[in-house]
This record gives sequence, C-alpha cells and structure tokens, in this order.
Amino acid sequence: MARVTLTDVTKVYPGGVTAVNRVSLDIADREFVVLVGPSGCGKSTTLRMVAGLEDISAGAIAIDGRVVNQTPPKDRDIAMVFQNYALYPHMTVYKNMAFSLSLRRKQLGLSKADIDLKVREAAALLGIENLLDRKPKALSGGQRQRVAVGRAIVREPKVFLFDEPLSNLDAKLRVEMRSEIRRLQKRLNTTTIYVTHDQEEAMTLSDRVVVMKDGVIFQAASPLEVYESPANRFVAAFVGTPPMGFIEGRCVGQNGDAAFEHGSERLPLPKKLAQAATGFSQRPLVLGIRPDAFCVRQSGENLPYAKLKARVTQVEPLGDRKDVHMTTTMGTKLVGRVDLRAGVCEGQELDMLIDMTRVHLFEPGEMGRNISVVPVRSAAGEQ
Ligand code: ADP
Repeated sequence: MARVTLTDVTKVYPGGVTAVNRVSLDIADREFVVLVGPSGCGKSTTLRMVAGLEDISAGAIAIDGRVVNQTPPKDRDIAMVFQNYALYPHMTVYKNMAFSLSLRRKQLGLSKADIDLKVREAAALLGIENLLDRKPKALSGGQRQRVAVGRAIVREPKVFLFDEPLSNLDAKLRVEMRSEIRRLQKRLNTTTIYVTHDQEEAMTLSDRVVVMKDGVIFQAASPLEVYESPANRFVAAFVGTPPMGFIEGRCVGQNGDAAFEHGSERLPLPKKLAQAATGFSQRPLVLGIRPDAFCVRQSGENLPYAKLKARVTQVEPLGDRKDVHMTTTMGTKLVGRVDLRAGVCEGQELDMLIDMTRVHLFEPGEMGRNISVVPVRSAAGEQ
C-alpha cells in the first residue's frame, strides 16, 4: 500500500519531443487511478516514469513520500502488467508466477514453501489453478492475461501499474477482465495506476479518471464528475458514447430572459446557466448537449426544455432506446438518444426538446473551457 505523488513531472525524449509536460498528480493509498487519453498523449510515458523504466527530465515522483527519481525499477516495490503480457515462453505458468520471488528468495526471506503458497493463492484468486503446468503457448489470450496479473499479485507490491493490459483481448473478454481487475483491486487494496485509450474502460474501472492530452492533464476527477462536469470541450467530447454534440452560437439577454442563439433559434437558458454566461454576452460560445439530454416529447411538467429545429437523417434502434441522427438549421450534426417509442422517422423535420438543466456552455475552440461548471481541479493538473 502506498501513496504516489507526481510533482511537475516532465519528460523530454532525446530529439526534443515533450511527451509529458509538468504533470502533477497525488494518488492516494489504495486508490485506482486510470490515465486516459488519445494515442500519444503521454500516458504510457507517465506510467513508465513511475515504474522507473524512463528517466524523468524534470520534477519528482515520490512513493510514500520518498522521492524515487534515481531509484532503479527493482527497488521501487511496484509490479507492472504490460499489454503484450511479457510471459517467459519456456516456463510453465507456475514458474512464470514464481520467477520474480525465486530470484530474490533469500533477500525477501522466503522459503520455497512460502513462494508455493503465494503462487497457489494468486492462482486461486484468478481461477487458473488448473493451468499451472502449462506453458504460455498453450493458453488463450485471456488466460495469459490472468497469468500476467498473477505474476504481479504474488509480489505483493506497493503499487500496481497496468499498461493497456486488455488491448489484445476480444471485446467480450475485455469486459469480463475489466470487472475482474476492478474486483481484484478492491480485494487486494493496492494502489493502482492503469493506462488505457478507452474512455469506457477508464470510466468503469477507476476511482478517479485522469484525462490527458498533449502531455498535460486536462481533468482528474471521479468518473461521474468527469461525465457531468467536464472541465473543457475536449474532455466533454472524449467521455461518453455517443459523444456530446456541440452547437455554435452566442448568449443574449439577461436575468429571466437569457437565451442561447443558434442561427435564428433561441434556446432559453435556466438561471444557473444564465448566471454562468454573464460576462460572455454576445460573445461566441458553444452549447454542449449529451445525446440523452434530448427528447421528442416532454416528460415533466416544469422542466426547462428548449426547442431546437432539426432534420432527422438516420434512426438507429438500440433495445429500449434509439439514436436519432439529425442536422440543425445551421448544418450542425447531432445525435439524440431517445425513447424507442418516440415517433420519429428518417427525413422528418421536427422540434427536438433539450433538457436545459443538463447542457454545458463552452468557450470556443476544441479546448474551450466549460464556463457552466466551477472546476474542482484545474485544467493544468490536480493541484
Ligand atoms: P500514449 O501512451 O499516450 O500513447 P506515449 O507516452 O507513448 O503516449 O508517447 C507520448 C509522446 O512521446 C508521443 O508523441 C510519442 O511519439 C513520444 N515518444 C514515446 N516514446 C518515445 C521515445 N522512446 N522516443 C521519442 N519519442 C517518444
């Protein structure tokens, strides 16, 4: 068990690429933190610096208050699980799992029986007791992944590091292994840092999601907070399926009369949003609407719905809901996820209703700040 603290950590690779730029993050003992972001955003580099597999160009990484910048990986008391499993092909599952402990048996003060017990306990935890005599080539992808996790568990490290461990598995197995890793982490109570490019994996696994882009942290918060109060438009668009839609316009009017104008349309703003937009009057802004904030027919009496004219281009049924793809009068494409029974068909022009308590206002641009929330943590990293 351990706390991991990154303070202004920077990595500049030879050749000048700044892969990680002044990242600060305080990971609590037992916390499960997932670093997520598009390919190349610096998440693996961050993890590898914690592991000691990459030098740190500037800043400090501490484990339990002790700066480990110069500590070799083997002395950091961490265990890492890689995407490609990295099992020894010539060893049985048992030997793969026992190997790191056997190497340091004397140093750790363990008997052979101690190691045997640890391997068998970890194997039981992962349901792979019947595979201990097999070699990796005789295992499925999911089984290999379990062995790789088992090898990390037997070491009882202070910190688990996972680098895209499920990427090589098929979709169904990935979902199964995901819940298994979550369950294991809660059971073992070991501080965990997990890297993935998959926002859904990040949202389902973590206590805290750290959204990165271009080597910086945009937001570090609980999955719910990242979903409901994204710090900026990039985070808003990255998290959630189908993604949030954005319409451009400006805020006009004041007090009880404030509205968002999109072309010739006027969407009345509830009080809280109108207040947030004070000071942005007549300036270009972007309204962010999650698909499930749309509906076709009003369900509550006094909810602050706004109407938006749209032409339906496609309807996709999905069990009890359906996705309505549409284009606004200004040519902006949006997706609404509505009740399956809602009467709406392709080619139709209609007034879509939007629950205005659930929309967000962003400053313009891909990284535009969300002005409708007071961020708990700043976009430059967790402070
Ligand atoms: P991610 O894990 O988010 O995909 P990485 O941490 O692997 O991102 O990479 C971040 C940036 O650093 C990318 O621009 C990548 O090309 C660059 N990079 C990664 N490894 C090296 C390396 N060994 N040498 C030079 N540049 C690298």
